[in-house]
Amino acid sequence: MSSDPLAGTATDSLRIHTFASLNPGPRLLVVGGVHGDETCGTEGIARILAEFEAGTLQLQRGELTLVPVANPLARRRLQREGERNLNRLFRPSDTPADYEARITNVLAPLIARHEVLLDLHSFQSDGEAFSMIGPRDNTGTLEPFARSYEEGQLALHIGTPIVVEGWLDIYAAAWRSARAAPRPTRPPSTSAAAPTNTSAAAAATA
Ligand SMILES: [Zn+2]
Repeated sequence: MSSDPLAGTATDSLRIHTFASLNPGPRLLVVGGVHGDETCGTEGIARILAEFEAGTLQLQRGELTLVPVANPLARRRLQREGERNLNRLFRPSDTPADYEARITNVLAPLIARHEVLLDLHSFQSDGEAFSMIGPRDNTGTLEPFARSYEEGQLALHIGTPIVVEGWLDIYAAAWRSARAAPRPTRPPSTSAAAPTNTSAAAAATA
């Protein structure tokens, strides 16, 4: 194998494991390694796969899909990003402009055919695991949502001692204030290199 972390980007593929129960039920997608330097999700998925292989864990109903490493280039580099942050622009494109856009074109339809997404990240510092859940039910344009009850139930069943909500509103407010503010002569460091609508998010999340 080449030691060049960029080698093979043209032929990279995502490893996707799907278990389909014969009993109908919801479809759950679990993703690890969106950020290459966050390995907890990948390790957790490896444990689950091993338990399925050993027969100590069985799927009771529905489908379970596991993606151990969502960003192979970032993982090879053991860095947060490959060419850019996969988490900051996630929209399929007929003309993918970079490596992460090509990943998006594989992941987006996969996400679309599942009812539930669990996206595993990790922090570099010590601390208890926590869940971040999305917006309350709403019909707005930023993040319309109708499954907040089910999402809250999922967070409770995952069992982390802390559940964080409201963070999308904080990001949106930060984005609005950043756009409304007069352009500084020297941009603040959090927004200097970030994509247009994600300056606060880039600084705040794992
Ligand atoms: Zn992350």
